Formats: sequence, C-alpha cells, structure tokens
Amino acid sequence: MVKKLLHNIFFKEILKGLKQTFSHYFVPEVTIQYPHAKLPLPATHRGALCLLNYEDGKERCVGCDLCEAACPSHCIKVVSVVEEKDNEVIRYASNFDIDITKCVFCGFCVEACPVNALAMTKMYEYSTSNKRDLIFDKNKLYKIGETCYTEAKQYLVAHDQEEDDQVASEYRYRFPSDLHPDSN
Ligand code: SF4
Ligand code: SF4
Repeated sequence: MVKKLLHNIFFKEILKGLKQTFSHYFVPEVTIQYPHAKLPLPATHRGALCLLNYEDGKERCVGCDLCEAACPSHCIKVVSVVEEKDNEVIRYASNFDIDITKCVFCGFCVEACPVNALAMTKMYEYSTSNKRDLIFDKNKLYKIGETCYTEAKQYLVAHDQEEDDQVASEYRYRFPSDLHPDSN
C-alpha cells in the first residue's frame, strides 16, 4: 500500500518514460528526410523499365515478342514489323507498350530478351493521378533508356546479362541482309 502510494507520488512511470525519451537524444538518427535526402540504391534495383539503343543509335529491340511471352502479368504488348528496304530486311517493334500499373517488377522480361534491349533503372518517382500516364509506350521507354543509360547498363552487368558494349554488340541480331549484303 505504502509502496504504491510512493510510486504515485513520485510519478515513477512518467520518469521512466522521460528517461527512455531522453536516451534517444544520444542514438544516431536513422530517419531519411525524403525527398530532400535519398538512400543510394544498388545496381540490382528493379525500378522503371526502359528500352536501349546500341552505341550507333540503332534500336536494340527486334520485336521478337519473347518479353511479352515471359511476362507473368501480361502487361507487355509488342507489335512487330518486318520491312525490306534498299535490299535490307529489318524487323522492329512498331509499338511497344508496358502497363506499369500491372507490372510486378520481376525482371523476367529483361532476362527473356535475347538482345538485352530491355533493362531496369533506379527511377521510381513517377506517381501520377492519371492512370493512363502509367502506360509506358515505346517513345517513353526509349527516353527513359537515354536518361538512365548508365543505370540500365549497370543493371544488366549486375544481373550477369552483359559485360560491356563489346559483349552487347555480340548479342546484336544480324539480319540475313547484314550478314550477306550482296545476296539480294
Ligand atoms: S518486370 Fe515482370 S511484370 Fe513487369 S513487365 Fe517485366 S515481366 Fe512483366
Ligand atoms: S524487348 Fe527484347 S524480347 Fe522484347 S520484343 Fe524487343 S527484342 Fe524481343
């Protein structure tokens, strides 16, 4: 009874709480003041997808549809075109759309691509109030690829898909007319 009375008189619980609070003044801060401060992300980070060009500016994507087939969320739509122009046969994606609202960032599409045309970046700030803005079309994907080129290359290297530009050019698909320019 006396013990309980003393306990109440000296507000022991409040003192215990204050001690706990003040002890945190001496603990290093762990909170990051986002968006003013940002944590560095690893090269393996799975952010926004992008499409890449070769060093000479040519599109890597040959519109083979393998990424579309590999996507578990069915959020990629590729429309391919085969054209013959000046004795040269080319195949490319005339339309390439990714519905980011459905994407689960698994990276399967990047792994499935035989020419490393797709990659992931560290870009993650693209929230919007308009859902339609989250359908990334071909232009937007190539634009992200240009802006985040270094990160995209780092992603491919970190995932053992590419070492450097020389390896990338070895993956490059050669159309028959490229290999035998005089055959037509
Ligand atoms: S990261 Fe996964 S879910 Fe997203 S588009 Fe690629 S395969 Fe589909
Ligand atoms: S991104 Fe790669 S897998 Fe997808 S259509 Fe283009 S070449 Fe094929």
